[in-house]
Amino acid sequence: MGDFIEKFRDLVSVNPEILHAHSADKSYEEAVLPKCVVTPETDDDIRDILRYANEHKHVVTVRGAGSGKSGGAVPEINGIAINMEHFNKIIELDLENSCMVVQPGVIVDQIKEKAEEKGLWYPPDPSSSDWCMIGGNIAENAGGAAALKYGVTGDYVLGIEGFFGNGEPFKFGGKCVKDVAGYDIKRLIIGSEGTLAIITKIILKLIPKPRYEKSIWCSFNSLEDGSSFLRQMMRSSIRFSAAEFMEKECIDAVELVRKERYECNQGQANVLLRMDAYSQEEIDVMMGDVRVVLARFSNAQLFDGDDSQYWMIRRAISEALGSKYKHKISEDITVPPGEISRYLKALKAFESEDGMVFVAYGHLGDGNIHTNILNDALTKEEWNDKKETWVQKVMELCVELGGTLTGEHGIGLSKKKYVSLFFTDQEIKIMKDIKTSCDPNNILNPSKIFMRKKMQEKKV
Ligand SMILES: Cc1cc2nc3c(=O)[nH]c(=O)nc-3n(C[C@H](O)[C@H](O)[C@H](O)COP(=O)(O)OP(=O)(O)OC[C@H]3O[C@@H](n4cnc5c(N)ncnc54)[C@H](O)[C@@H]3O)c2cc1C
Repeated sequence: MGDFIEKFRDLVSVNPEILHAHSADKSYEEAVLPKCVVTPETDDDIRDILRYANEHKHVVTVRGAGSGKSGGAVPEINGIAINMEHFNKIIELDLENSCMVVQPGVIVDQIKEKAEEKGLWYPPDPSSSDWCMIGGNIAENAGGAAALKYGVTGDYVLGIEGFFGNGEPFKFGGKCVKDVAGYDIKRLIIGSEGTLAIITKIILKLIPKPRYEKSIWCSFNSLEDGSSFLRQMMRSSIRFSAAEFMEKECIDAVELVRKERYECNQGQANVLLRMDAYSQEEIDVMMGDVRVVLARFSNAQLFDGDDSQYWMIRRAISEALGSKYKHKISEDITVPPGEISRYLKALKAFESEDGMVFVAYGHLGDGNIHTNILNDALTKEEWNDKKETWVQKVMELCVELGGTLTGEHGIGLSKKKYVSLFFTDQEIKIMKDIKTSCDPNNILNPSKIFMRKKMQEKKV
């Protein structure tokens, strides 16, 4: 490693505080100190770093803001962390083509703000948008509440540039809206979790921003009612721009932690709906339809109060559950929307088996349910022993219902042990072959996504 540090000395730091700041992300994975942190300034720096790393078999991990929830930015053992913070420029806002050209280190909210200055909109809205970077969003194909109507990050990537793991440059897509030339490698790089390539430039599609927006809160007697309401609404002509689901337990936890009481905390299940449109009349029509469908459910209530309070409650849930319970692990499985009720029912049935508590909330409209496994009674050792069994059961249930292991956060380190539940050996082989083709020396984030015999041995 000394050779690398010497070669790139102008860009490298071995300051312990900097190493520590690059050792973890926001997953449950243990931190791993990198041997050094290299902060490239230019595309040429990235090419040189990758070529040198290939030649000398140094493993590297690219890092965005480190907000990831599956360990993707956790460095490899004896590895190098590549810090992308200097790739932070908005290169062009192209109004003629409704697109924006950016570097990967730009914070997502800066993209949104820049577009909105000109009446345009970049819709993807991960809850971490005020600090995560667009490069990390593309590598994870991040989504958010708006995905229900507007899709996820990958749906807005027109073009992408960068370097494959072997140091060779690539450029796929551009400013064209339609492009079916060749294999869709751009889509392959989107969501590849920093294992195939380092992204250095992105062209993002922008759309007109709806002028009117309204959020309402509906409460129901049961999870089934909440889910059935939304299915019925989705069959109507309305497309909500968000439909978030929260069990009562979630709101109770927010009330407890924030020492507040919320009028909307009435039913066992809650659905937060957001509507957007280009006229107030459209919103009024949607509200009328919501009232008609809601009347079919006994004791269902509609709260049409402070939008910002409703969204504050939704955003506070994860932290509130973490404060209320001694132990928490959260998964972001996705099931087909029509299977949500069955999934939630089966989850509750798990509770009787082992004293674990299962609390769900999340994106009801698209089936991406944040599933929290919680416990107060176990010691740390008992929890560590048991939690994997329950995560496995949750994953098995979700796959049985035709779901997938992760809807937003990626596989990374956290879910790689479950990959074989979802893919056949042949499918995994094809993915590994693609990895080898882009990164023949296996230097780019090699321990992520796939299980390897030699697991991470040394932790910080
Ligand atoms: C409070 C909170 C809320 C969140 N809410 C959401 C949500 O609503 N929806 C959602 O989808 N996620 C959410 N996340 C997860 C996280 O914010 C996203 O996964 C985000 O995309 C990560 O971006 P980042 O810049 O932090 O990337 P990092 O965590 O630094 O890295 C993530 C992955 O991207 C790779 N990577 C980073 N930059 C590049 C690059 N230039 N080229 C190639 N690979 C790269 C890394 O190697 C790593 O594998 C949330 C996280 C937190 C902490």
